[in-house]
Amino acid sequence: MSLLVVHSISLPPGEYGGDAIEALFTNRLDWSAHPYFETIRGLRVSAHFVVRRGGELIQFVSGDRRAWHAGRSAWRGRENCNDYSIGVELEGLEGEPFEAAQYDTLAALAKGLARRYPIAAVAGHEHIAPGRKHDPGAGFDWALLRARLDVAGLAAWDFPDSATRRNRSARR
Ligand SMILES: [Zn+2]
Repeated sequence: MSLLVVHSISLPPGEYGGDAIEALFTNRLDWSAHPYFETIRGLRVSAHFVVRRGGELIQFVSGDRRAWHAGRSAWRGRENCNDYSIGVELEGLEGEPFEAAQYDTLAALAKGLARRYPIAAVAGHEHIAPGRKHDPGAGFDWALLRARLDVAGLAAWDFPDSATRRNRSARR
């Protein structure tokens, strides 16, 4: 595992604190319990971790195993991100802001994962599946995550905008 992928999810969208995310990731979601669930009926996905609004971390899949969070995807020209990435779902709504506690947990998780796996990059689902996926969206503060990772000793991690910045400095 060499990449951390950030997602956002809430079920139903915009409603926080329920148990539907856990139910979905453990194949126990009652599709008839909400009209929105009917629209994703049969969806089979998983992620390694979920970070609740209060920062609580829940693990669903071992980092040693593949989870089904990325779908058709590529990062820095390498396809099938599920094969080499850890997926983290932040409880939230695409485009809306996330909680400070979620950045804290994400940074602590990144630090822990970096000790165990050769992870040195982080990207959003929107960056590995551009046009097809839009999470975590404009409300996710990449600069804040970078600051948190700097503090965690992970200043060298590759970020979604790194290539752009490298190209810019190369042109100078
Ligand atoms: Zn996603």
